[in-house]
Parts: sequence; structure tokens; C-alpha cells
Amino acid sequence: GYLARSAFKLLQMQNKYKLIKPGASVLDLGCAPGAWLQVACQSLGPLKNGGAVVGIDLKKVKVPSVHCDSRVQTVCADVTNFPKGQARALSPKGKGFSVILSDMCPLVSGVTTKDAALSIELGMRALDLAIGTPDLPVQDDDICEEKQSDGPSSEADENGILRPGGNLVIKLLESEDVQEFSQICKSRFKKSALLRPKATRSSSREIYLICQDLR
Ligand code: SAM
Repeated sequence: GYLARSAFKLLQMQNKYKLIKPGASVLDLGCAPGAWLQVACQSLGPLKNGGAVVGIDLKKVKVPSVHCDSRVQTVCADVTNFPKGQARALSPKGKGFSVILSDMCPLVSGVTTKDAALSIELGMRALDLAIGTPDLPVQDDDICEEKQSDGPSSEADENGILRPGGNLVIKLLESEDVQEFSQICKSRFKKSALLRPKATRSSSREIYLICQDLR
């Protein structure tokens, strides 16, 4: 079985949008306890199709024994200060990922506006990793990071690590900012949608931004 009910959210998205194609390379941000790793690996199809699933979480995650195989690996790290070049290096041949998923959520304080703002921040980080966000104000530490890196990949890293034609899923907590956030994505992807999965608890304000086919 699956490690968490969150599996059914990704399964619903996968059934509806076919986000993960056989042999895809998937980056799963906020992967603990590992249910999305299971669904992602299943979606790759048989081992001979190839593909890869890389999960990152603040918590240490053991690759699930069910529905996962040698194509799955996990990294224990904070996505908010994980260098883009390092994330790219985790992709097959360093060529980037064809699918990036973020189910990250902040530690909820219970203060609705605060939690929503934190979730937008995490979402922005996922978006920056995926497609780069040149038109958004950069944080000071990001600037430092860019000044320090002057390797051949530093210029390309501003563009993000999602391959052209790639798909992106980002969990957000509902607020007015969600519309603005989805507008940023609309121009960069051929298709985008907001979905509240059936497996989401009725008390939860979570919503998933699904972007397909990066231009
Ligand atoms: N998709 C997962 C699954 O199906 O098993 C469930 C993910 S859970 C809802 C959210 C995860 O995001 C938590 O495990 C949390 O540790 C992680 N997270 C939150 N902020 C993070 C960050 N800055 N870096 C990495 N992981 C983070």
C-alpha cells in the first residue's frame, strides 16, 4: 500500500493530466514520508523504460520498499537554501527534470494569513528552482549565491532546472496571492490549472497549481 493518503492526490492529478510520462525524470520537493515517491515511480512504468525520481525533504526519508525501485533516491536538505546547481546535478546526466512536484508545506501556525504567506514563499522557491524567476525580487542570500558561483553552469541556473515541455505541480494554501502566483506561471507554460484533490480534507485550505508544457 501507500505510505500516506497524499498518494491519492497525486494519483488523481496523474490520471487527469498524465503529468509523469514513462521514463520521466521527477523531482519531488517535500517528499516525506514518501507516498508521492511511490506514485511517481509507479508512473515511470517498467524498469526498462528508465527514468528517475529524486525526493528532497528536511526529514530523512528511506526509499519506500513498496512501489519503488532502484530509480528512486532521496536527499535530506532544506529546499529553501539548496543550490540550484546541486539540484540540477541530481537529475539524469545533469540535464534537468521533466517533472517537478512540490508538496511542501510550512509548519502551520494556525494563523491563516501567516500560513498562506509562508506557503507562497515555499511555492516561490519551488518555482524559482523549476523555471527561474528573473522578474521577481531576489532575496539577499540569493544574490550572494549567484555572485559566488561563476562556473559554466551559473548562467543557465538562472533559468531553472525544469526541461522545456516539462510539468510542474505546486501545493499552495488558498489566499488572494494564489491567483497572482498562478498568473506568473500562465505565461511560461502552455497550460495551467488549479485543483483541489478529492483526498484533501475538507478543513484544509490546500490547493494545487498544475502547470503543463514549459515553453
Ligand atoms: N508528498 C509527501 C508524501 O506523499 O509522502 C507528503 C509531503 S508533506 C505534506 C510536506 C513535507 O514538506 C514535510 O515532510 C516537510 O518536512 C516538507 N518541507 C517543508 N518545508 C521544507 C523545506 N524547506 N525543505 C524541504 N522539505 C520541506
